[in-house]
Amino acid sequence: MSSEFDAIIIGAGPAGTTAAIRLASAGWSVAIVEKREFPRRKVCGECIAASNLPLLDALGIGEQFDALAGPGLQRVGLFVGQRKIIAPLPPMNHERHRWGRALGREHLDTMLLERAAALGAQVFQPWTVKQHHADGDIHRCTLSRAGDEADVHLQASVLIHAHGSWEPAPHDAMQADATRKSPHRNSDLLAFKSTWLNAHIEPGLLPVLAFPGGYGGMVLGDHGLTTLAFCIRRDVLQKARTTHAGMSAAQAAFAHVQACCTGVGEVLDDAELVAGWLAVGPLQPGIREATPGDGQFAVGNAAGEAHPILGEGMSMAIQSAWLLSDRLIAHGAQASGSSGMPATGSSVGLEYSRAWRAHFAPRLRFAAVCAHLAMRPQAAAPLLPLLQRWPGLLTQGARMAGKVRQSAVPATIQLGNRSG
Ligand SMILES: Cc1cc2nc3c(=O)[nH]c(=O)nc-3n(C[C@H](O)[C@H](O)[C@H](O)COP(=O)(O)OP(=O)(O)OC[C@H]3O[C@@H](n4cnc5c(N)ncnc54)[C@H](O)[C@@H]3O)c2cc1C
Repeated sequence: MSSEFDAIIIGAGPAGTTAAIRLASAGWSVAIVEKREFPRRKVCGECIAASNLPLLDALGIGEQFDALAGPGLQRVGLFVGQRKIIAPLPPMNHERHRWGRALGREHLDTMLLERAAALGAQVFQPWTVKQHHADGDIHRCTLSRAGDEADVHLQASVLIHAHGSWEPAPHDAMQADATRKSPHRNSDLLAFKSTWLNAHIEPGLLPVLAFPGGYGGMVLGDHGLTTLAFCIRRDVLQKARTTHAGMSAAQAAFAHVQACCTGVGEVLDDAELVAGWLAVGPLQPGIREATPGDGQFAVGNAAGEAHPILGEGMSMAIQSAWLLSDRLIAHGAQASGSSGMPATGSSVGLEYSRAWRAHFAPRLRFAAVCAHLAMRPQAAAPLLPLLQRWPGLLTQGARMAGKVRQSAVPATIQLGNRSG
């Protein structure tokens, strides 16, 4: 097994696998390291915006996605208190992909990782990158695996952080405080997800939930399954646990959501919970460093995380990884062995950081405004009669959220099998 690569990618979510597919297709030798066994469920609303569907085609999983994903999302609903305000979602200007769709992460992430492997990426799974450090131009990673005494050591001239933002990042041996933990705060957002069969959800409707101290969404995805995913502030969850003594955190949070959004109960009345609750948190919304060091880059949530109210996280993951890969490929830093990344780190890093901010910073800001309004239905109450009267305002909101914006990258390059 080789231990020297052109690039090491930490994490096989949509960001890491997109980078792996793009780089492997361009002839790079790529190691992608994922700590969890796949298929694995993940806390996520699982809606993929229409702008990404041409990208999934270009990544080589479009047909598989089309065959499994739920119906096109043509309407948005705002469920708040007893109100249900429904409005059309704007279609994207594309001949085949006009609407977003939902697919379980156990399917999407597996498809993407299998595609990367088919293109030649070497997959280390389930292995955890526990530490990395730079040694001149070379990045060295130490991988460990439960039950395995011996660590594995990999090296590359490019290190891509695609490990998301909900778990401690791998320790940077050169930065003493990298593992420092932040204290719990009342405003921390914790996220929950559940999957239901036989829910009364209109196909094609995407209900967005707004309730005191949180927000969420429901969607019909693959296999007739409905996903409910939401975020809730830590202090509101604590109150809910006091009110619903004896319940688990997920059940108490769910009881709070049902009490605050009657539409949720209507959709899930009689529905069967088919897979246990998942939880993560606290979420880390905000912009981080897209280029944390020379020859080191961050993509997806590792670079920046939007409040998930707009369901743009996977778009940002796929598109940021694509933006970075294009720049790395264009600078021709590949396949030169672990010695060759002359000046690429800094110039690619600058270009990539600029592109990242231009494409994604406005989305993060808009998502933050929407999230803060949704979590304070009292403050947003004067808006509700307006929305009820003119639901088209919701359609306009979806436009502003980027639902019909073309992707940050053109999906013009069809990826074939790597030769050689
Ligand atoms: C409640 C909620 C609802 C959401 N709904 C949507 C939605 O509807 N649509 C949407 O687009 N986005 C949604 N999102 C956001 C979306 O889930 C994330 O933005 C997306 O998963 C980020 O992708 P990523 O590849 O950057 O990271 P991740 O998907 O988090 O992948 C990171 C991977 O890295 C692995 N990893 C971590 N550390 C290590 C390590 N040290 N070594 C090896 N592997 C490691 C992890 O196991 C994981 O598989 C939602 C999020 C939440 C919380």
